[in-house]
Amino acid sequence: MEQSAGFTNLGATELNRLYASLKETYGEYKRRNMKLDMSRGKPCPEQLALSKEMLDILSSNDLLKAEDGSDCLNYGGIDGIPEAKRLFSQMMNVSENEVMIGGNASLNMMFDALSRAMLHGVYGSEVPWGKLPKVKFLCPSPGYDRHFSICEQLQIEMITVDMLQHGPDMDMVEKLAREDDSIKGIWCVPKYSNPDGITYSDETVDRLARMHTEASDFTIFWDDAYTVHHLTNEPDPLKNILAACKTAGHPNRVYMFCSTSKITFPGSGVAALASSEANVSHIRKQISAQTIGPDKINQLRHVRFLQNIDHIHAHMKKHADIIKPKFDMVLHKLETALGGKNIAWWNKPNGGYFISLNTLDDCAAEVVQMAAEAGVTLTKAGATFPYGKDPRNRNIRIAPTFPSLEELEAAIDILCLCIQLVSIKKLQV
Ligand code: PLP
Repeated sequence: MEQSAGFTNLGATELNRLYASLKETYGEYKRRNMKLDMSRGKPCPEQLALSKEMLDILSSNDLLKAEDGSDCLNYGGIDGIPEAKRLFSQMMNVSENEVMIGGNASLNMMFDALSRAMLHGVYGSEVPWGKLPKVKFLCPSPGYDRHFSICEQLQIEMITVDMLQHGPDMDMVEKLAREDDSIKGIWCVPKYSNPDGITYSDETVDRLARMHTEASDFTIFWDDAYTVHHLTNEPDPLKNILAACKTAGHPNRVYMFCSTSKITFPGSGVAALASSEANVSHIRKQISAQTIGPDKINQLRHVRFLQNIDHIHAHMKKHADIIKPKFDMVLHKLETALGGKNIAWWNKPNGGYFISLNTLDDCAAEVVQMAAEAGVTLTKAGATFPYGKDPRNRNIRIAPTFPSLEELEAAIDILCLCIQLVSIKKLQV
């Protein structure tokens, strides 16, 4: 977080004067009746255009056969065509036998994986998790709201764990997992985390892999959604969790997930799960009751378009060229409007889709409300915490990718105004 100092030193008269002038500017913005949305991390139309040629890559004249000879138009291929497994194995840095290809959304695979655990347990479980009096999950926060929604829907109790500079507070994670056998797992977004943009350190990865857990079937849900989504030429390195778990003697501890949602198209990408061969073969048997196989045509299209990991990196560079100026602009505006005022702190991510901003305690909900009244939709305050409750009511998630630069400029100006107005009120109480 960017540390600043200053607003708190102003006297009451100066604060009142500042408040009045900022309020006037706010009123002017309100009268403009703008409609700006910074709420969801979606690629912008220019990013989607980067992959449009993929739609023309297959033709009705093609054979449409996978390299194992299977007809991609027909049934079969429960866990994906071999070339798709190879592509994802490169992306996830695992072997091809450790990958399963799913449908278009990794969130769907996560929901299914946790649902299966509730119904049947995971590979090696003695009891289905849903038959236990209580199931709890560790939720490093701020985190991804949809992970928390899955837990709420499956009635899994969530325990908030602080996110620190190098990943979750591992002292707390280790202590809780060691003491409570109803804690069955943890949600992790290990690279360019949503929303903080934090990448887990090697030590964090090793501690997660190594730690003693009272539940023998404790499972790490490793959502590597932003694994190739760098904003700079010096990507954050992330240690391979599956390899670390094997080394630590817990080969079946982790499920890794990723997708091409923000590489090609969020509506029609390809998702994958990676885990130990034992886990993968266990899951394969379970899902054979659910489907005869996912969309192989889409897999084929993706493999022909994305080709290999080097080509993916080159493609992602084009995404970065489009969105980096948006991140830079937001960071510059935050610094200009709020830097040195001791009322807001934010991260400078090297990748991913978000900028996470903390206000003074107890200000976020009012800031989000005020911004909405001036036409700026932000992610709901609290959404980045379990049960939608930010204990300090201070975290705001900024999603800069979708709006145009012009829209984003206006939206950030309004956000900065609201933060200042709410902070002054707070400081004067
Ligand atoms: N995981 C994280 C951390 C995300 O931020 C998102 C989307 O914002 C997703 C998963 C969704 O992925 P998918 O489109 O593959 O379901």
